[in-house]
Amino acid sequence: MLGVPAKVRAFATSGLISPLGKLRAAIEPLLPTTADTDSIGDYVRSRFGNQIHERLVDPLIGSIYATDSDHFSMAAVPQVAALTASRSMLLAAGRARAAAAKSPAGPIFSTPTRGLGALIELLTQRVTALGGRILTGETVSAIEKVNTSYTVSTSRGQHLADAIVIASPAKPSSHFIRPLDTRAADLLGEWSHASVVLITMAIPASQWPARLKGSGYLVPKPDQRWVSAASFGSNKWAHWRPDDGSMILRVSLGRDGLEVMHFDNEKLINLALADMKLHLGVDMTPSEIRVSRWAESFPQYRPHHFARLAELEHSLGATAPGIVFAGASYRGIGIPACVQQARTAGEATLAHLASLHS
Ligand SMILES: Cc1cc2nc3c(=O)[nH]c(=O)nc-3n(C[C@H](O)[C@H](O)[C@H](O)COP(=O)(O)OP(=O)(O)OC[C@H]3O[C@@H](n4cnc5c(N)ncnc54)[C@H](O)[C@@H]3O)c2cc1C
Repeated sequence: MLGVPAKVRAFATSGLISPLGKLRAAIEPLLPTTADTDSIGDYVRSRFGNQIHERLVDPLIGSIYATDSDHFSMAAVPQVAALTASRSMLLAAGRARAAAAKSPAGPIFSTPTRGLGALIELLTQRVTALGGRILTGETVSAIEKVNTSYTVSTSRGQHLADAIVIASPAKPSSHFIRPLDTRAADLLGEWSHASVVLITMAIPASQWPARLKGSGYLVPKPDQRWVSAASFGSNKWAHWRPDDGSMILRVSLGRDGLEVMHFDNEKLINLALADMKLHLGVDMTPSEIRVSRWAESFPQYRPHHFARLAELEHSLGATAPGIVFAGASYRGIGIPACVQQARTAGEATLAHLASLHS
């Protein structure tokens, strides 16, 4: 359950946690209720002790959201938040695991084999087939209210709109909604974003140790230098297995609180290879390397994120009805959460348009 122990035997025999750490975790069901400060770190540390947080929960959540989960909202991770409904997280995790075991298990990893761009291509086709028009390469600089409509100023001109779904990240959005609502703009301006660098390398088969058969590993923060996670891509994805038997390895560097964007590519590659040597005990000389920089790509949901979002939406709802938000900065960071937000935003927009014409 995202690092919260759910399998007693696996936990008891795990070498990741010291005997003292296991003992501390085992008393969790006996502890009184913990106050919810909406910080994952606060809650998990107080229930299970530091080791479970630092060696199990934080590496998983931290690598998914490029975050330091001591400063990340628990409500933003529903799988963990759900476990706090009962007094004991440990017992709740056991029950959740037993319930999950009853439903058919899908693959652990899944992705479009043509890459995630395939999702956007399909969406574009559907929108245009329905008569929609998509304009790209325009940066929105301001939205202003004109009676019950809005003028959207962009790098290429102006558009008139009856309703708007803002799907850009918090930072740029905070700039262009300022003419509508300074309070909402200030709130949105407080959101922070983390940057990561992904380095994808082809490691010749002769250099890849046969013992490394898993899908990869995560590095707990106390042991982190630069690499936070390594994914053994060819073990995960059938379409990532080159004919020459190379391993496609992808490592992630950086997160909230661990800045790496200032390094040049050569430095980043050297840092990654040095960390791989430390973690795996192997010298690797990649035959191909690609460095992908994802600047400010992970919104950081600080504790009480949803309360701030509610305040923002309440304020904007009063000053600018018909403008709604969807996307990673708002109600969930992963793709499924973004798709769900798009549906909700679409419904709200249709309702607003209907109200204008009734
Ligand atoms: C390295 C990495 C790995 C990830 N892995 C996964 C994963 O395995 N599974 C998963 O579910 N999710 C993953 N995610 C998260 C996933 O990418 C996001 O959920 C998703 O991309 C968010 O979509 P979005 O449309 O909200 O935001 P974005 O994709 O960031 O799109 C926002 C858009 O707004 C545009 N924009 C910004 N400013 C303006 C402006 N002023 N005017 C007009 N447009 C503007 C930008 O150009 C951009 O096109 C990953 C993210 C990263 C960075």
